[in-house]
Amino acid sequence: MKIIDKFFKFNGGIKAETYKNISTTKSIQSIRIPKTLVLPLRQHIGKIAKLKVSIGEFVLKGQLLAEADGNVSAAIHAPTSGLILSMEKKLIPHPSGLPDLCLTLVPDGKDTWIEKIAIDYKKIGIEETIKGLRNSGIVGLGGAAFPSHLKLKSHQKNKIHTLMINAAECEPYITCDDMLMRENANELIQSIFLVQELLGAKKSIIAIEDNKPEATEALKISIADSGIEIKVVPTIYPSGDAKRLIFLVSGIQIPKEKRSSEFGIQMFNVATILSIYKYIIKGEPSISRVVTITGNVHKPQNYEVLFGTSLSELIKDAGGQIVKNETYIMGGPMMGFKLPSKEVPVTKAMNCVISAEPKMLAEKKEVLPCIRCARCAEACPVMLQPQELYWFSKSKQLEKAEEYKLFDCIECGCCSYVCPSNIPLVQFYRYAKSEIIEKARDTEEANIARERNDFRLKRIEREKQERAERNAQRRAQNTPEEKSKLIDEKRRAISEAMERVTNAEGEQ
Ligand code: SF4
Ligand code: SF4
Repeated sequence: MKIIDKFFKFNGGIKAETYKNISTTKSIQSIRIPKTLVLPLRQHIGKIAKLKVSIGEFVLKGQLLAEADGNVSAAIHAPTSGLILSMEKKLIPHPSGLPDLCLTLVPDGKDTWIEKIAIDYKKIGIEETIKGLRNSGIVGLGGAAFPSHLKLKSHQKNKIHTLMINAAECEPYITCDDMLMRENANELIQSIFLVQELLGAKKSIIAIEDNKPEATEALKISIADSGIEIKVVPTIYPSGDAKRLIFLVSGIQIPKEKRSSEFGIQMFNVATILSIYKYIIKGEPSISRVVTITGNVHKPQNYEVLFGTSLSELIKDAGGQIVKNETYIMGGPMMGFKLPSKEVPVTKAMNCVISAEPKMLAEKKEVLPCIRCARCAEACPVMLQPQELYWFSKSKQLEKAEEYKLFDCIECGCCSYVCPSNIPLVQFYRYAKSEIIEKARDTEEANIARERNDFRLKRIEREKQERAERNAQRRAQNTPEEKSKLIDEKRRAISEAMERVTNAEGEQ
């Protein structure tokens, strides 16, 4: 087993208080099956899943409820056995705060599995195995929710030499991957071998921040002499961003417009790779995940939770809030977002919920003018000029903002974090991005409408011409000269026919 401490430091980043040890004192807890489960049909990046069951139907645990629709989509399965009660729009955990289509399942309490069918990947081959994963419902559980079968297919286009496991978990407060590694190190190693084989990669590297010594120790024991490398990287936010982590580990700078697979590296999050193993080896689709419940609760900890469980159940199980408020943040404090309600269901992207602590809700600091101190530029891991981006976004000079690579911004929040003027820089960038996207959409729609209109005008002109030609032909056929020409032709045809008849009689 190889532990490598050498790393390549990326530009900027911040060293923030991590608040991780508050939720790692207890092992991962299970939670009882709730009275109802609310399952959004879109828990992934891409098209909403296509319904495969009817309202009133009884389903078994693990049964397919909705299948992936198109390539970038993911299936939804029943987290337990029970009755499909309804399909309607409900609040979901999404930054938009808008409701979306959800199935409500009433558990029967028996938790009866469908027949679990493992995939004999050695027998059916890698391509068929990856195709089969489209039905697994597995998406990136680090928060990105990108369908995993697509990532596994990357080796078809590019040769993958390295499988990298993203075990950095760099956002403050989040500890679900840390706890998974501590408690499931053996299974994680088996998962890595399996996915390495599926990708045809030559080696695997686990990249982990140095603030997880217990997990690193557990992995060391499980890895033994298997050849998997562990790369311990310093705790610098945002080391968990895929491109930053690849640079930290390998020194390879992946440009914004490129994917890591084009450089022979494919990355998976800890929980995602474990889910792939469970589906292939045990025949279990994606129906649950580990979620960190932390912050302003009496018992901050990690839970193994069925998708669809209401967040309020978890808050209750975590001992309830210490100080009552209604602010819950999904994800970390740097890149997370405020939830619209604590009644939202746990979904595949929900890695952590922070019940806001009073210090988080303390009166907002006064926003002061930019003093051009350049601290934001020093902190930016993408080497942007945040103060310029701020100025162009604020003054709506959107073309200039694009010129200054607004879309390279990963919204990590490092610039806002260090700004002495308390300027909420990321909010300005998000606003500017949405304005540009909106404008581009409007322009595209206007272009499509223009093209349609041009096409319509051309069609009308063509039809007009064709009509004119037909009329001209008809008119030409009706002139006295044309008429006599026609009569002559007919006469000639009749006399030729009579001649043929006369000749035939003569021969007889
Ligand atoms: S850190 Fe804040 S005050 Fe300093 S240059 Fe950047 S935006 Fe301006
Ligand atoms: S939010 Fe964007 S501009 Fe600010 S530090 Fe992160 S990448 Fe740079």
